[in-house]
Amino acid sequence: MILPSLAEARSPLWRPIKYSLFPPLGLATLASYLDDSDEVELVDQHVEDLKLDDEPDLVIIQVYITNAHRAYKIASHYRQMGCYVVMGGLHVTSLPEEAAIYADTICLGPGEDTFPQFLNDFRNNCPKPKYVSIHRSLTGVPPIRRDLIKRHLYLVPNSIVVTRGCPFHCDFCYKDAFFKGGKSFYTQQVDEALMEIDRLPGSHLYFLDDHLLGNQKFAAGLFEGMKGMNRVFQAAGTVDSILRGNLIEKAADAGLRSLFVGFETFSPQNLKQSNKKQNLKKDYEAAVKRLHDLGIMINGSFVFGLDDDGPDVFKRTVDWGVKNAITTSTYHILTPYPGTALYENMKAQNRIKTTNWDLYDTRHVVYETVNITPEELEYGYNWAYKEFYSWSNVLKSSLNHDSVKHVLKHFMYTAGWKKMEPIWKLIINSGMLNQMLPVLEAILSKVRNEKKSKLDNARLITIPSHS
Ligand code: SF4
Repeated sequence: MILPSLAEARSPLWRPIKYSLFPPLGLATLASYLDDSDEVELVDQHVEDLKLDDEPDLVIIQVYITNAHRAYKIASHYRQMGCYVVMGGLHVTSLPEEAAIYADTICLGPGEDTFPQFLNDFRNNCPKPKYVSIHRSLTGVPPIRRDLIKRHLYLVPNSIVVTRGCPFHCDFCYKDAFFKGGKSFYTQQVDEALMEIDRLPGSHLYFLDDHLLGNQKFAAGLFEGMKGMNRVFQAAGTVDSILRGNLIEKAADAGLRSLFVGFETFSPQNLKQSNKKQNLKKDYEAAVKRLHDLGIMINGSFVFGLDDDGPDVFKRTVDWGVKNAITTSTYHILTPYPGTALYENMKAQNRIKTTNWDLYDTRHVVYETVNITPEELEYGYNWAYKEFYSWSNVLKSSLNHDSVKHVLKHFMYTAGWKKMEPIWKLIINSGMLNQMLPVLEAILSKVRNEKKSKLDNARLITIPSHS
């Protein structure tokens, strides 16, 4: 089973730590459908060399848009050797005709229903050229083959996914293309998710779900069950889910310490254009304050290049992030992934400039822009990263927290993530990456808003306990 490295991961400017965070969970999940007697190896080309000198019966390759060319080369090599090649993943699902040229079998959509069917047919010598996911459920899926994951190669080996998809339909998101033809948001049973968490050593978890808070009932049950499990975790959620009800408090009580939030744009027109209605009329600053009051750090996601963006968008976005003490910012140049509504719209308007998928990495402009030139957009994108992560802005942003502990956490997390590249390289080369996990756990330890803590203490003194 192979995860070929992304095009950018082989650039001389690549940051090895960025690609040494999470193990290939999708392939480890599919591996759980193999028999105990099957001999299997899982290779993640981002963190290890791919030796092409073996001749397995079956080669399974996961394809993203910017590893597609590399994936096709690997597939062609193994097919020449007489091996049977199966490909699946986001890009294969978006462009099946393209992928089918390089594979014996392609699997479209999530693999929980297609892969067991394929394996059964393969064992009976009658595999089909294409399997399409229709029945979507995570009930009773076998435990992920975590024994195949080389934990020492990753900073965050305890990554986990307990839902699939997302309840929303932003038109630039890969999600609708991948889940076409069936449910596009579903969850595990709470008990099964808790059992999976229980199998993971240590205390840190990283939920890679698109929107962990997307199903309120499931998330509330999960967080309730996690209380007392002594976990700290990071996850992703929408502005809307932070502001609604008290789910975010429950998440914080269960150990949520940092949240990836898709702010994307401040322009209502851009939000409408992208069908990101859930962010419309939402008070971003209120969401930020709520997270900070709960001691939760924020990774803000922002998209540049939507049609209402002019050349001033970069400075406004960076300034807002610094003022609001956003811990880390992830900027993207708008990218119309094939299979998305955005791609179809742009294609209809003749705005797609290239189909060189290596450039679809959210760092390059691949479409005709409207209120900004492609040069301004790429320059502004690079400027925004440089400016947001300048030492002066890291310091300024850290100091915008109320509590001293939060100031220190913010500073250490951001500086550690963006300012210590040579040290990360050294740690990765010496095979000690996993040893850094206790440091990450310490940085993610609980912070309480000091004003709120004082209030809570006052309540404890004045309100008698029911027990
Ligand atoms: S909220 Fe996020 S995951 Fe959901 S559709 Fe929009 S961009 Fe995709």
